[in-house]
Amino acid sequence: MQQNTQAILERLKALRAGDAPTHGGHVMSYVYDSGLAELDALAAAAMELVQPVNGLDPTMFTSVAHMEREVVTFAKDLLGGDSTVVGTATSGGTESCLLAVKTARANYSGPGKPRILAPASVHAAFHKAAEYLGLELELVPVDGDGQVDPQAVISRMGQSTALVVLSAPSYPHGALDPIMAIAAAAQSRGIDCHVDACFGGWILPFWEGLAPWDLSVPGVTSLAADIHKYGYSPKGISVLLTKGKQRQHGQFFATTNWPGYPVVNPTLLGSKSAAPLAAAWAIIKYLGRDGYAALAESCKRSTKVLIAHVNGIEGLAVVGEPAGPLLAVRREAAAGTENGVDPHLWADAMAAAGWHVQLQPGYGQPDGSWLVRTTHLTITPVTESVLPQLCAAMSGCAQKVRGIEGMDAQAVLAALGLGADPAVQEGPSGVLEAMGVSAGGESALPRDMAPLLALVEALPREVSARLLIDLLAGIVAPENQIPPTPPGSVAGGVPGE
Ligand SMILES: *Cc1c(COP(=O)(O)O)cnc(C)c1O
Repeated sequence: MQQNTQAILERLKALRAGDAPTHGGHVMSYVYDSGLAELDALAAAAMELVQPVNGLDPTMFTSVAHMEREVVTFAKDLLGGDSTVVGTATSGGTESCLLAVKTARANYSGPGKPRILAPASVHAAFHKAAEYLGLELELVPVDGDGQVDPQAVISRMGQSTALVVLSAPSYPHGALDPIMAIAAAAQSRGIDCHVDACFGGWILPFWEGLAPWDLSVPGVTSLAADIHKYGYSPKGISVLLTKGKQRQHGQFFATTNWPGYPVVNPTLLGSKSAAPLAAAWAIIKYLGRDGYAALAESCKRSTKVLIAHVNGIEGLAVVGEPAGPLLAVRREAAAGTENGVDPHLWADAMAAAGWHVQLQPGYGQPDGSWLVRTTHLTITPVTESVLPQLCAAMSGCAQKVRGIEGMDAQAVLAALGLGADPAVQEGPSGVLEAMGVSAGGESALPRDMAPLLALVEALPREVSARLLIDLLAGIVAPENQIPPTPPGSVAGGVPGE
């Protein structure tokens, strides 16, 4: 038996060794590394203590109720909530977004299909919410810096608007939406206004010089903040805060209409782990406000250095003025053919050097305007410990790809030997196969991401969405193989892990 469990865990360790490094600051999205080893140990111990608990029923497992109440109270105080604010721990940002929309739909009494109104930079989770819950999503174009004109949002508010969603800040560009003006206008029309602070909620309270954005702003009716981002908790925890108990009731599902136990769920899941809540609770107790403030200071210092560094690299520029520890990097608008740097070729070069930054495709907005392709960097406290190496890699990789024209989708298609309209001719699996990504083939993942992103930019959206589905479904298809290292990463891992 003992031999057996050891072998199983050895196998898992071997699999984990193939992952992108979760610690050490080399992956600049997905993971939020505090750089404090004791937080990991504390979270692990807390999770183990509640491992057998079912979070479905806090009346049976009262520790869940205690922890949730304390986490919600901490969040509410941090985020400008008064005594009318109530909240729920959810499994993450997406669930918080879905539930905010469900609440608004429940409280909607306007004519026709309810609408969500939001800047085009709103997180994709609201596209998902609209699809899952049957609402229309009305997107308002943003400018090249990711900023929305408040009047453009306000002028679109109508009787069918069930919810206005604003970001603090937006994930793609780090833009803080003009929350005061829009929330006030929403309030005067009786429309709910949700602030998506999934990214910023646990760090912007410590960021100076921002316009008001939290629950203290009149007209803001709910706000979500992910604890598994700048709360430094393991994945699986976010908090959704809502003004007014009555309003919050729309979030719940309850039924006695079956022969089993009476059901009441504040969130999407039924039976659920209490582990992420316990980890979050423990970390919040350990860090407190002062601990979070100190970690935010580190992020601030690194962000300042990185903005200056990127803007100093010939051919690259930071998009707008990010409100928080993230940057979107674009090709410098004024750069000529010789000295421009394509942010996606740069990202692939960074990956080859062991630094994982996130590619964001160019995006055609509803009004026909085009947002250029960018590369996203999330800055965490651990970033500060690798700043000199990171800056050197950024400059070096820019040097490598400077003057090289970025991927053009038509050229990618031609190079793959596909026709002008692969959507019709080959279907998404044809495109993937031509890229060397195929069911049963050598690799279920593409190595360079720039060509894939170029395709996303060029293909009709339904086709690129199907392509992504093919790709991801293929990764776990039983006949496929997954490469031993993440795309573009250095075999054998990177130093610091
Ligand atoms: C991360 C994020 C989400 C979605 O959160 P998940 O935890 O990934 O489900 C939504 N909105 C914003 C602004 C985010 O940064």
